[in-house]
Amino acid sequence: MPNSGDLQSLASSITAVTSPFRNYLNDLYDKYRSLNEGKVADYIPELALAKPEWFGICVVTADGQMFEVGECQQLFTIQSISKAFVFGLALEDHGREYVNSKVSVEPTGEAFNSIVLDEATNRPYNPMVNAGAIATADLIKGKNSTERLKRLLEMFKRYTGREHDINVPVFLSEKSTGYRNRAMAYLMLNFGMISDKIDETLDLYFQQCSILVNAKDLAMLAATLANGGINPVTKERAIDERYVQDVISIMLTCGMYDASGEWAYRVGIPAKSGVGGGITAVVPGKLGIGTFSPPLDAKGNSIRGIKVCEYLSKDFGLHLFNVAKPERDLQQWLVGGDGINDW
Ligand code: GLU
Repeated sequence: MPNSGDLQSLASSITAVTSPFRNYLNDLYDKYRSLNEGKVADYIPELALAKPEWFGICVVTADGQMFEVGECQQLFTIQSISKAFVFGLALEDHGREYVNSKVSVEPTGEAFNSIVLDEATNRPYNPMVNAGAIATADLIKGKNSTERLKRLLEMFKRYTGREHDINVPVFLSEKSTGYRNRAMAYLMLNFGMISDKIDETLDLYFQQCSILVNAKDLAMLAATLANGGINPVTKERAIDERYVQDVISIMLTCGMYDASGEWAYRVGIPAKSGVGGGITAVVPGKLGIGTFSPPLDAKGNSIRGIKVCEYLSKDFGLHLFNVAKPERDLQQWLVGGDGINDW
C-alpha cells in the first residue's frame, strides 16, 4: 500500500510528464541544445570557464506556477541583468525626477561600454549602458559600502525568494581590469553627475555584476515584475508598484544592448541580458522567462536564449503589441506547472 508521500510524488511526476507547456519547453530545449554558435564571454578568465553546452529555460507565471527545463540550477554571474533592478532601487531611493536628472532614458545604439555622455546634459544615455549603470549604482543609499551592498542583496532576495552570494573571483577580476568603467566614472565625476565616492561606487557596480543567480532566479525576477512587483511565490513586495513600469519600459527600449530595437520589433518582450549568458524577460501580467546559455552573439546576447524568447513570443502571441490570435492559447497550455508548494 503506497503511503501519501509516494502518491504525492507519483502525482507530481505524472503532472511533470503531462504538462503541455513543459512539453513545449522540452521541445524548444531539444531543438536548440545542439545549436553551437556564438562565443562565451572571455574578457575576464573566470567567465571563460563557462561551458558552452549549459542551457536552461525556466518560466514562472504571475500566479506562481513554475516550468523548468535543462540546467536551471547552474549558477552564473548576473552581470548586466542587475542594472535593471538596481535602477528600480535607485528610483525607490530618490524618485523619478531626481534619478532622471542623473541618468537619461534614451537608447543609444552604441556599445554598452562606450565612453559617451549626452552632450547637452552630460547625463549617461540610459541605466543599461555601463556609464548609466555606474551613475545608478552611485545613487544607492546606505551609510557605507557594506550597507549599500546589503541593500542590493536584500532587494534581489525579495525578487527571487532566496539569498544570493557574490562570485568573489569575478568581482576581483572586474575590479582589477575595469579601466574603461573607471574612466567613465571619472568622466561623470568631472561633470558633477556622480558623487566623489568613486571607488566605493565602482566596487558596488562590480559586485552587483558578480551576483550569482540561476535560470530560475531570472524567471523569478521577471515574474515578480510581471506580477506588479510582488514575488508570486513568497508574496513579498520587491519594488514599489509605481516604479515597475519604469524598469520594464527601460528593459524594452535598452535591455538587449545595441540589439534592443531589433528585439523590441521581433520579440516584443521587455528583457535584459548579461554577458554571463542570462536573459530575463517580462510578459506583464502573465509571466517571467529566465534563460541561461553562455554562448553570445556579436552584440553580447545569448544565442539560445534569443531563440527561446523568439519562439515563445511567436507561438503564444506574447509580443507586447500583438493583436492577432496566437497559434497557441497560453492559458490552455499553462496547466500542470509546479505550484507554490513544490517550489
Ligand atoms: N561587468 C560588465 C562590465 O561592466 C558588464 C557586462 C555585461 O554587459 O553583462 O563591463
